[in-house]
Amino acid sequence: MRLFKKKRRPYISLPIETAVDDHIPQVPDGMFQKCPSCKQAIYTKDLGAERECPKCGYAFRITAQERLNLIADKDSFEEWNKEITSTNPLNFPDYEEKIAQAKKKTGLDSAIVTGKAQIEGFDTALGVMDSHFIMGSMGQAVGEKITHLFEEATKKQLPVILFTASGGARMQEGIYSLMQMAKTSAAVGEHSRAGLLYITVLTDPTTGGVTASFAMLGDIILSEPQALVGFAGRRVIEQTIKEKLPKNFQLAEDVLAHGFIDKIVPRKELKNSLALLLDLHVQG
Ligand SMILES: [Zn+2]
Repeated sequence: MRLFKKKRRPYISLPIETAVDDHIPQVPDGMFQKCPSCKQAIYTKDLGAERECPKCGYAFRITAQERLNLIADKDSFEEWNKEITSTNPLNFPDYEEKIAQAKKKTGLDSAIVTGKAQIEGFDTALGVMDSHFIMGSMGQAVGEKITHLFEEATKKQLPVILFTASGGARMQEGIYSLMQMAKTSAAVGEHSRAGLLYITVLTDPTTGGVTASFAMLGDIILSEPQALVGFAGRRVIEQTIKEKLPKNFQLAEDVLAHGFIDKIVPRKELKNSLALLLDLHVQG
Protein backbone atom coordinates (compact mmCIF):
# COMPACT_ATOMS: atom_id res chain seq x y z
CA MET A 1 0.00 0.00 0.00
CA ARG A 2 1.29 3.40 -0.85
CA LEU A 3 1.54 5.66 2.11
CA PHE A 4 1.71 8.86 0.15
CA LYS A 5 -0.42 9.02 -2.84
CA LYS A 6 0.84 11.41 -5.44
CA LYS A 7 -1.87 13.87 -6.00
CA ARG A 8 -1.91 15.95 -9.15
CA ARG A 9 -2.06 19.54 -8.11
CA PRO A 10 -3.77 21.89 -10.45
CA TYR A 11 -1.02 24.38 -11.31
CA ILE A 12 -1.71 27.13 -13.71
CA SER A 13 0.94 27.95 -16.27
CA LEU A 14 2.18 31.49 -16.59
CA PRO A 15 3.48 32.89 -19.87
CA ILE A 16 7.27 33.31 -19.90
CA GLU A 17 8.19 36.97 -19.85
CA THR A 18 9.84 37.57 -23.19
CA ALA A 19 9.46 41.29 -23.44
CA VAL A 20 12.75 43.21 -23.24
CA ASP A 21 13.15 45.29 -20.16
CA ASP A 22 13.04 48.90 -21.24
CA HIS A 23 15.52 49.87 -18.55
CA ILE A 24 18.37 47.78 -20.02
CA PRO A 25 20.15 49.78 -22.70
CA GLN A 26 20.13 47.94 -26.04
CA VAL A 27 23.14 48.07 -28.37
CA PRO A 28 22.33 47.60 -32.06
CA ASP A 29 24.07 44.70 -33.77
CA GLY A 30 27.42 45.57 -35.29
CA MET A 31 27.83 48.86 -33.42
CA PHE A 32 30.78 47.49 -31.42
CA GLN A 33 33.41 44.93 -32.31
CA LYS A 34 35.92 43.19 -30.16
CA CYS A 35 39.49 43.60 -31.33
CA PRO A 36 40.97 40.10 -31.73
CA SER A 37 44.36 41.43 -30.67
CA CYS A 38 43.88 43.76 -27.67
CA LYS A 39 40.40 42.34 -26.81
CA GLN A 40 38.98 45.85 -26.34
CA ALA A 41 35.48 46.75 -27.47
CA ILE A 42 35.81 49.11 -30.41
CA TYR A 43 33.11 51.39 -31.74
CA THR A 44 32.77 50.07 -35.32
CA LYS A 45 32.80 53.59 -36.77
CA ASP A 46 36.22 54.16 -35.17
CA LEU A 47 37.72 51.35 -37.28
CA GLY A 48 37.36 53.60 -40.33
CA ALA A 49 37.55 52.45 -43.95
CA GLU A 50 40.93 50.87 -43.20
CA ARG A 51 39.45 48.76 -40.40
CA GLU A 52 42.32 49.32 -38.03
CA CYS A 53 41.99 49.09 -34.25
CA PRO A 54 42.38 52.63 -32.87
CA LYS A 55 43.71 51.22 -29.56
CA CYS A 56 46.42 48.78 -30.68
CA GLY A 57 46.75 49.24 -34.44
CA TYR A 58 45.72 45.67 -35.32
CA ALA A 59 44.56 45.48 -38.94
CA PHE A 60 41.25 43.58 -39.01
CA ARG A 61 40.79 40.85 -41.62
CA ILE A 62 39.18 42.32 -44.71
CA THR A 63 37.77 40.93 -47.95
CA ALA A 64 39.61 40.97 -51.27
CA GLN A 65 37.20 43.62 -52.52
CA GLU A 66 37.81 45.87 -49.49
CA ARG A 67 41.55 45.47 -50.08
CA LEU A 68 41.24 46.42 -53.74
CA ASN A 69 39.22 49.50 -52.76
CA LEU A 70 42.02 50.56 -50.40
CA ILE A 71 44.98 49.82 -52.68
CA ALA A 72 44.07 50.11 -56.36
CA ASP A 73 43.42 53.48 -58.02
CA LYS A 74 39.72 54.00 -58.65
CA ASP A 75 38.33 51.89 -61.53
CA SER A 76 41.83 50.73 -62.49
CA PHE A 77 41.49 47.05 -61.55
CA GLU A 78 41.14 44.59 -64.41
CA GLU A 79 40.61 41.00 -63.23
CA TRP A 80 42.49 38.07 -64.74
CA ASN A 81 41.48 34.38 -64.74
CA LYS A 82 38.29 34.85 -62.75
CA GLU A 83 36.95 31.59 -64.23
CA ILE A 84 39.62 29.41 -62.56
CA THR A 85 37.92 27.60 -59.72
CA SER A 86 38.46 24.60 -57.46
CA THR A 87 37.64 21.04 -58.47
CA ASN A 88 37.63 17.95 -56.27
CA PRO A 89 40.63 15.97 -57.56
CA LEU A 90 40.64 13.43 -54.70
CA ASN A 91 36.86 13.10 -54.42
CA PHE A 92 37.08 14.36 -50.86
CA PRO A 93 33.68 13.95 -49.13
CA ASP A 94 31.51 17.11 -48.99
CA TYR A 95 34.25 19.24 -50.58
CA GLU A 96 32.10 20.44 -53.52
CA GLU A 97 29.46 21.56 -51.04
CA LYS A 98 32.07 23.47 -49.05
CA ILE A 99 33.31 25.24 -52.19
CA ALA A 100 29.74 26.11 -53.18
CA GLN A 101 29.10 27.59 -49.72
CA ALA A 102 32.33 29.62 -49.84
CA LYS A 103 31.41 30.96 -53.27
CA LYS A 104 27.99 31.98 -52.04
CA LYS A 105 29.38 33.60 -48.89
CA THR A 106 32.16 35.60 -50.56
CA GLY A 107 30.96 36.12 -54.12
CA LEU A 108 34.40 34.86 -55.23
CA ASP A 109 35.30 31.82 -57.34
CA SER A 110 38.46 31.00 -55.40
CA ALA A 111 40.48 32.25 -52.40
CA ILE A 112 42.42 34.77 -54.48
CA VAL A 113 41.64 37.63 -56.84
CA THR A 114 44.33 38.45 -59.40
CA GLY A 115 44.68 41.06 -62.10
CA LYS A 116 46.23 44.28 -63.15
CA ALA A 117 45.77 47.60 -61.39
CA GLN A 118 47.33 50.98 -61.01
CA ILE A 119 48.71 52.09 -57.67
CA GLU A 120 49.20 55.86 -57.63
CA GLY A 121 49.52 55.58 -61.40
CA PHE A 122 52.00 52.66 -61.46
CA ASP A 123 50.94 49.63 -63.49
CA THR A 124 51.12 46.55 -61.25
CA ALA A 125 50.14 42.91 -61.36
CA LEU A 126 48.14 42.43 -58.17
CA GLY A 127 47.05 39.37 -56.19
CA VAL A 128 44.80 39.56 -53.14
CA MET A 129 44.00 36.50 -51.04
CA ASP A 130 40.77 36.38 -49.07
CA SER A 131 40.73 34.47 -45.78
CA HIS A 132 36.92 34.36 -45.85
CA PHE A 133 37.10 31.74 -48.64
CA ILE A 134 37.90 28.42 -46.83
CA MET A 135 40.50 30.29 -44.74
CA GLY A 136 42.35 31.45 -47.88
CA SER A 137 43.75 27.96 -48.22
CA MET A 138 45.81 27.14 -51.31
CA GLY A 139 44.49 24.47 -53.62
CA GLN A 140 44.95 24.03 -57.36
CA ALA A 141 42.87 27.10 -58.26
CA VAL A 142 44.89 29.47 -56.04
CA GLY A 143 48.20 28.00 -57.25
CA GLU A 144 47.13 28.24 -60.87
CA LYS A 145 46.00 31.86 -60.56
CA ILE A 146 49.22 32.90 -58.84
CA THR A 147 51.30 31.12 -61.48
CA HIS A 148 49.34 32.90 -64.24
CA LEU A 149 49.78 36.20 -62.42
CA PHE A 150 53.57 35.87 -62.43
CA GLU A 151 53.72 34.55 -66.00
CA GLU A 152 51.57 37.40 -67.27
CA ALA A 153 53.58 39.95 -65.25
CA THR A 154 56.81 38.56 -66.70
CA LYS A 155 55.38 38.84 -70.22
CA LYS A 156 54.12 42.36 -69.62
CA GLN A 157 57.23 43.41 -67.64
CA LEU A 158 55.16 44.35 -64.59
CA PRO A 159 56.03 44.28 -60.89
CA VAL A 160 53.91 41.96 -58.72
CA ILE A 161 52.34 42.88 -55.39
CA LEU A 162 50.75 40.01 -53.52
CA PHE A 163 48.64 40.28 -50.36
CA THR A 164 48.78 36.96 -48.52
CA ALA A 165 46.07 35.72 -46.12
CA SER A 166 45.96 32.00 -45.71
CA GLY A 167 45.67 29.06 -43.36
CA GLY A 168 48.09 27.18 -45.66
CA ALA A 169 47.65 24.32 -48.08
CA ARG A 170 44.10 23.03 -48.68
CA MET A 171 43.69 19.74 -46.90
CA GLN A 172 40.94 18.48 -49.24
CA GLU A 173 43.28 18.60 -52.25
CA GLY A 174 46.13 16.72 -50.54
CA ILE A 175 49.25 16.34 -52.66
CA TYR A 176 47.78 18.54 -55.44
CA SER A 177 47.71 21.35 -52.95
CA LEU A 178 51.32 20.79 -51.83
CA MET A 179 52.45 20.78 -55.47
CA GLN A 180 51.30 24.41 -55.74
CA MET A 181 54.18 25.42 -53.48
CA ALA A 182 56.74 24.28 -56.07
CA LYS A 183 54.70 25.54 -59.01
CA THR A 184 54.19 29.06 -57.66
CA SER A 185 57.83 29.26 -56.50
CA ALA A 186 59.02 28.39 -60.01
CA ALA A 187 56.86 31.15 -61.50
CA VAL A 188 58.22 33.64 -58.92
CA GLY A 189 61.74 32.56 -59.95
CA GLU A 190 61.08 33.23 -63.66
CA HIS A 191 59.71 36.67 -62.82
CA SER A 192 62.75 37.39 -60.68
CA ARG A 193 65.20 36.26 -63.37
CA ALA A 194 63.53 38.75 -65.72
CA GLY A 195 64.72 41.45 -63.29
CA LEU A 196 61.25 42.36 -62.09
CA LEU A 197 60.16 43.48 -58.64
CA TYR A 198 58.01 41.34 -56.35
CA ILE A 199 56.59 42.70 -53.09
CA THR A 200 54.63 40.59 -50.63
CA VAL A 201 52.38 42.09 -48.01
CA LEU A 202 51.72 39.57 -45.23
CA THR A 203 48.32 40.01 -43.62
CA ASP A 204 46.58 38.20 -40.78
CA PRO A 205 46.96 35.19 -41.02
CA THR A 206 49.81 34.02 -43.30
CA THR A 207 50.68 30.44 -42.42
CA GLY A 208 51.53 26.95 -43.64
CA GLY A 209 52.34 26.20 -47.27
CA VAL A 210 51.75 29.82 -48.29
CA THR A 211 54.43 31.05 -45.87
CA ALA A 212 56.66 28.20 -47.03
CA SER A 213 56.40 29.27 -50.67
CA PHE A 214 55.52 32.53 -52.42
CA ALA A 215 54.80 34.62 -49.28
CA MET A 216 58.43 34.53 -48.21
CA LEU A 217 59.90 34.91 -51.71
CA GLY A 218 59.25 38.62 -52.11
CA ASP A 219 62.19 40.91 -52.91
CA ILE A 220 60.61 43.11 -50.27
CA ILE A 221 58.41 41.61 -47.56
CA LEU A 222 56.03 43.95 -45.77
CA SER A 223 53.49 43.04 -43.13
CA GLU A 224 50.47 44.56 -41.46
CA PRO A 225 50.68 45.17 -37.69
CA GLN A 226 50.15 42.15 -35.43
CA ALA A 227 49.48 39.75 -38.29
CA LEU A 228 49.96 36.09 -37.47
CA VAL A 229 52.90 34.91 -39.58
CA GLY A 230 54.22 31.39 -39.21
CA PHE A 231 54.41 27.88 -40.56
CA ALA A 232 53.03 25.29 -38.12
CA GLY A 233 50.47 26.33 -35.53
CA ARG A 234 51.37 27.21 -31.95
CA ARG A 235 49.72 24.11 -30.43
CA VAL A 236 51.51 21.70 -32.78
CA ILE A 237 54.89 23.23 -31.95
CA GLU A 238 54.21 23.28 -28.20
CA GLN A 239 53.25 19.61 -28.27
CA THR A 240 56.33 18.73 -30.30
CA ILE A 241 58.94 20.60 -28.28
CA LYS A 242 57.06 20.20 -24.98
CA GLU A 243 57.59 23.84 -24.07
CA LYS A 244 55.32 26.85 -23.68
CA LEU A 245 55.87 29.43 -26.40
CA PRO A 246 56.06 33.17 -25.66
CA LYS A 247 52.92 35.27 -26.05
CA ASN A 248 54.21 37.22 -29.05
CA PHE A 249 55.26 34.04 -30.88
CA GLN A 250 54.50 34.29 -34.63
CA LEU A 251 53.27 37.87 -34.37
CA ALA A 252 54.58 39.99 -37.24
CA GLU A 253 56.53 42.19 -34.77
CA ASP A 254 58.42 39.15 -33.48
CA VAL A 255 58.98 37.78 -36.99
CA LEU A 256 60.37 41.21 -37.97
CA ALA A 257 62.77 41.10 -35.01
CA HIS A 258 64.05 37.75 -36.34
CA GLY A 259 64.70 39.21 -39.78
CA PHE A 260 61.99 37.58 -41.88
CA ILE A 261 60.05 40.79 -42.54
CA ASP A 262 61.48 44.04 -43.89
CA LYS A 263 58.93 46.44 -42.49
CA ILE A 264 55.58 46.55 -40.71
CA VAL A 265 53.37 49.14 -42.31
CA PRO A 266 50.08 50.36 -40.82
CA ARG A 267 47.23 49.93 -43.28
CA LYS A 268 46.68 53.69 -43.53
CA GLU A 269 50.21 54.13 -44.93
CA LEU A 270 50.27 51.02 -47.08
CA LYS A 271 49.23 52.50 -50.43
CA ASN A 272 51.75 55.34 -50.15
CA SER A 273 54.53 52.95 -49.08
CA LEU A 274 53.84 50.64 -52.03
CA ALA A 275 53.74 53.58 -54.46
CA LEU A 276 57.08 54.78 -53.10
CA LEU A 277 58.66 51.33 -53.53
CA LEU A 278 57.28 51.07 -57.07
CA ASP A 279 58.61 54.53 -57.85
CA LEU A 280 62.08 53.59 -56.60
CA HIS A 281 62.25 50.29 -58.49
CA VAL A 282 60.17 50.59 -61.62
CA GLN A 283 61.14 52.58 -64.65
CA GLY A 284 58.64 54.75 -66.46
ZN1 LIG B 1 43.18 46.31 -30.70
